[in-house]
Amino acid sequence: MSLRGRDVISLKDFSRVEIDWLLEKSDSMEAYARTGTNLLRGKMMGTLFFEPSTRTRLSFESAMMRLGGGVIGFAEPRVASVEKGENLADTVRTVENYADILVIRHPLEGAARLAADFASVPVINAGSGAEEHPTQALLDLFTIKKELGSIDGITIALVGDLRYGRTVHSLAYGLSLYKVKLHLVSPELLRMRPEVVLDIKNRIKVTETPEMEPLLPELDVLYMTRIQKERFADLAEYEKIKGSYRLNASQLRSAKDRMIVMHPLPRADEIDFEVDRTRHAKYFRQMWYGLLTRMALLASILEPG
Ligand code: ASP
Repeated sequence: MSLRGRDVISLKDFSRVEIDWLLEKSDSMEAYARTGTNLLRGKMMGTLFFEPSTRTRLSFESAMMRLGGGVIGFAEPRVASVEKGENLADTVRTVENYADILVIRHPLEGAARLAADFASVPVINAGSGAEEHPTQALLDLFTIKKELGSIDGITIALVGDLRYGRTVHSLAYGLSLYKVKLHLVSPELLRMRPEVVLDIKNRIKVTETPEMEPLLPELDVLYMTRIQKERFADLAEYEKIKGSYRLNASQLRSAKDRMIVMHPLPRADEIDFEVDRTRHAKYFRQMWYGLLTRMALLASILEPG
């Protein structure tokens, strides 16, 4: 199998066979991550971040450098010609002269797809508005596989902002390729987009509910998310629902021993700090798995034939 030259725009573009292959490859990256390698020597990655990022950008940069490649780019569009009004297509057509792969994060849905249409080098979507965040979903699937041994057979709840949260959209598509039972937990206002629910309901069992606590005893994975304040057109609406879900350590007493708590981070107030010290907390470990997944992606897209 090969992903050479592929764009990574939506998780919907990936088959289960391809995802399983990538997860295997992510596992094999651990040794390289610790010692470094020259696999991608001479290759350059361009990062175009039009929105804030800590984990995604730094882990992509770290992944590329550990593979022996180089990194250029901007994390702050105000320092680039974007500030002078340059359009996305021209920015892409510029940076592709200097880089062999582009990693782009943009507040507009469809921006990554547009960039890929204009670019002659592969494009990775590192977050497109409220739409998708496919590499986060890959690392989430890898985390589940590593921590629980298998994705098939699990019961998982996605909790919080399922409307504006992009990670949950990509993750839902990914999970629907496995045999999972999926609970979508959100306030009425923040329910998962109907087009995503319709799509995944064709393949797996899905329930929707505003209540998190009654589900805790049956879950293998509790995936918490932040209410995406920056995507609300009306902040009064945000004020009404912020703090809808808060997980504390005593609630976890009803959970299975092996149940894991995940979060794409950053967290706001939805996971109490006391949860960090429980055996369930895996959201810091998730970041290490993210590095391995991004190494696997870069290596398989750019690997010489
Ligand atoms: N870091 C994730 C994202 O960029 C999750 C979040 O911001 O809540 O989508």
